[in-house]
Amino acid sequence: MKKVPTMTSPFVYHSAASRVIFGAGTVIQLAAELETLGCTRVLVLSTPFQKGDAEQLASDIGTLAAGVFADATMHTPVDVTELALAAFEAAGADGIVSIGGGSTIGLGKAMSWRNKAPHLVVATTYAGSEVTDILGQTENGVKTTIRDPAIRPETVIYDANLTLGLPVSMSVSSGLNAVAHAIEGLYAQDRNPVTSLMAVEAIRALKSALPRIIKTPEDVAARSDALYGSWLCGVVLGSVGMSLHHKLCHTLGGTFNLPHAETHAILLPHTAAFNAVAAGDALAPAAALFDGDLGGGLYDFAAELGAPLALRDLGVTLADLEKAADLAVKNPYWNPREITRCGILDLLSNALNGTRPQAH
Ligand code: NAD
Repeated sequence: MKKVPTMTSPFVYHSAASRVIFGAGTVIQLAAELETLGCTRVLVLSTPFQKGDAEQLASDIGTLAAGVFADATMHTPVDVTELALAAFEAAGADGIVSIGGGSTIGLGKAMSWRNKAPHLVVATTYAGSEVTDILGQTENGVKTTIRDPAIRPETVIYDANLTLGLPVSMSVSSGLNAVAHAIEGLYAQDRNPVTSLMAVEAIRALKSALPRIIKTPEDVAARSDALYGSWLCGVVLGSVGMSLHHKLCHTLGGTFNLPHAETHAILLPHTAAFNAVAAGDALAPAAALFDGDLGGGLYDFAAELGAPLALRDLGVTLADLEKAADLAVKNPYWNPREITRCGILDLLSNALNGTRPQAH
């Protein structure tokens, strides 16, 4: 058979800088890393659920800790940011440490973007926010997104030991949320060979790690592989533009107040199958990891992991879909495949009922 010659497409590669400390037990390096950043008194942030972890971290770094603010909330409400900034001032802090997932990291980003304090993240989920320059925040019920290199945290510590307690169901949905960044990165208009390599490696790592985590949640090797994959997914998310999948999740999540990671997990097989029709070549390395059928393979993988499969289970109704489809086509954006109301309604109907997507 005659070999078809391939050509590397033109691209722009911009490497985004964060310092990453990776490995089980590396949280012990926190004090030294803070000193490298020039911090002498840091405010440690967490959600109320992880207050104990934040207090432990503060105790471990002794006089480097100025206090704990444990009221981080989903969607980064601006009034919580203002309270946290007041706590920062009152404590005489000069640096920020976020321990947790996207909600806590969002608060740390919102603060450091405003007061220019160095921000170090101890990441404990797979959402990937810690390496992006993206900040989503909510004011008067409206969520807006800002992109600015100053938002990206200076240093990230990935210590798998701190993720052993992430509940299995959250590990699964958070891991699939990460995979969604990689899948959309593969067909992004502004992708480059480096982000594509990272995306495929990230999917491979998470595909291997998540089933092992379900079997043994305290498996440090599996947790390390999942963190490694989620770091790569976060870098992809922070490097290239996202399209249909992220826009749909944003619309559905915001309009119907749906849980972030679960919404991503449910929609991913459907958006991947939809876009595979137009972006088959770009998605081929990912499809190869799922026996050639990306949408169906992702659906089977999610089912095997016990992930939620139907929007119905999150309380979405048939009537909601009409509204969601209207919103989805309202503000046009780039996507590899044309977005029509009819196409989106079909995709959403499958996601509503948890129907396995068909290969086209
Ligand atoms: P989360 O931060 O909301 O965490 C969910 C809950 O799990 C919280 O109570 C948290 O304290 C707890 N938790 C976190 N790690 C834990 C651990 N190891 N053990 C036990 N409990 C733990 O969840 P998330 O999915 O990481 O983040 C979701 C938010 O992040 C959304 O608001 C989303 O929009 C945002 N996000 C932003 C970006 C970005 O680049 N800006 C990227 C991804 C997600």
